[in-house]
Amino acid sequence: MIERPAAAVKELVENALDAGARRIAVSLTDGGIAAIEIADDGAGIAAEELALAVQRHATSKLAGDDLVRIATLGFRGEALPSIGAAARLAITSRPRDAPHASQIRVEGGRVFPVEPAAGPPGTRVLVTDFFFATPARRKFLKHPSTEAEHAEAVVRRLALAAPAVAFRFEQDGRTLFDLPAQEMPARVASLIGAGAASTLIPLSAQRGAVRLTGFAGGPTLTRATAAGQFMVVNGRPVADPVLKTAIRVAYRPVIAERRHPVAALYLALPPEEVDVNVHPAKLELRFRDPAAVRSLVISTLAGALSGAIGSGAAPIPVPARPPLRLSPAPPAPSGYASPGFAETVLPLAGQPAARVVSPEPADASHPLGAAVAQVFGTYIVAVTSEDELVLVDQHAAHERLTHETLRAQHLSGGVRSQPLLLPAVVDLPQADVERLAARAEELAALGLVLEPFGPGAVLVRALPASLGLPEPGPIIRDLADELAESGEETVLAARLDAVLARMACHGSIRAGRQLSRPEMDALLRQMEATPRAATCSHGRPTFLKLSKADLERFFSRR
Ligand code: ADP
Ligand code: MG
Repeated sequence: MIERPAAAVKELVENALDAGARRIAVSLTDGGIAAIEIADDGAGIAAEELALAVQRHATSKLAGDDLVRIATLGFRGEALPSIGAAARLAITSRPRDAPHASQIRVEGGRVFPVEPAAGPPGTRVLVTDFFFATPARRKFLKHPSTEAEHAEAVVRRLALAAPAVAFRFEQDGRTLFDLPAQEMPARVASLIGAGAASTLIPLSAQRGAVRLTGFAGGPTLTRATAAGQFMVVNGRPVADPVLKTAIRVAYRPVIAERRHPVAALYLALPPEEVDVNVHPAKLELRFRDPAAVRSLVISTLAGALSGAIGSGAAPIPVPARPPLRLSPAPPAPSGYASPGFAETVLPLAGQPAARVVSPEPADASHPLGAAVAQVFGTYIVAVTSEDELVLVDQHAAHERLTHETLRAQHLSGGVRSQPLLLPAVVDLPQADVERLAARAEELAALGLVLEPFGPGAVLVRALPASLGLPEPGPIIRDLADELAESGEETVLAARLDAVLARMACHGSIRAGRQLSRPEMDALLRQMEATPRAATCSHGRPTFLKLSKADLERFFSRR
């Protein structure tokens, strides 16, 4: 079933790929509702085959041939007739050796006779008036911009899957991308965004007959949704649960809960290892040996990610300036020299697991006590004057502080904004650009000043000051995801807290950053002075407190 323009776009582009096209141009008007035009330079359809092509269950792709089966996941002979039943369809096609092109039209299921036509070798399919013949279904179409967004996502996925094919994508007369034939890495960089591409780690692994290539985003390149994940099996984009789970499992130790990594995985395996007849209506497949595929993906990703963290070849952007500003300037950790006590370092996987710092005596007015150590680069250990042990998750805590600062500033008239020295260009899908542009005024009130910058990019001029100049790319992409989730109807104000939380996350001390004792103590003092500081913006606890009595009970000393 063709449920929306994007579904037609997918079928038509797949047909062009099946026909061996080297160049595919897709052009949409009003999100494809008014018109979809797809031109390719593939094998073409002979005049005498045109009538057959629009008949149900007619396919030139032989079911008996396994190679064709896997290469053409969509062979069912249903796409063209379904589109012809719901809309106005015109196919103009010319095989390379034909003297001229021929055209067939189908409108609301009515097939017109084949006619001679003009046109270059290849096929041009024009679909107009989507669902004109079925007004009941037309009602379910979303706003053209939403339909356009779905279609753009479909074409991006297909373009990632077929890097050797040149792809052009136009929307309402504007070119959103125009990619030449490329090698896979260049195609991934073009489509995932140049900024993001700099943190991508190349993957290459083979186990038995299964080969995995592609790119894994570093642990700091996360998104609010799984929209940055692309999976391609034998040249076709898929949304496969086995692969999705494998990505989640591999990243779980290195990224925050509810964040989604960015990855492009290309799997090549013999056709007999994949069953494509699982679900006739969907692009799903079943691996004959899902456990083998899962383990190959997990171990390859985990290997790539561990390299990223431990090797120093880390694609993790290190902020030029610590986001937390404190006075007096904190001394470097190595500045502590009290013999036998400070700078005790326990090794853990090549990284110091704990840094013990000379504590100030805890002040009775400080419920969170005085910092004594930082462990795993992530937790602050503190001791209170009441003999309590406190563990603080530094990222969760600082995220809450930043969130509350933003909220307080917003309530008192507007978030303070800090202009960037050099405005930053952030590449985004056009739908996201439009979504951000539509909210530019509201975002400016939140300290974030941006404007559209040609197709597929925004120019960021200023960011909220309390974020301490984070990388603009991740925060902008995240906000775009947030806006996509909240939908066009919702006013930003209704989602304000979610938006502030997203921003706060980017301005926060990362897990993994070493903190000096004054920094740790300052964080504890700020937590004490901040409302809601016991949980982070996502509702997770920020600290854990154990009394001496709790410890004694635990160790059965009482
Ligand atoms: P299927 O792709 O499952 O065979 P479709 O309804 O999508 O069914 O297409 C029917 C037939 O039309 C295809 O088998 C193919 O022979 C022909 N066809 C469709 N699109 C193209 C194209 N762009 N170039 C060449 N042939 C095409
Ligand atoms: Mg098809």
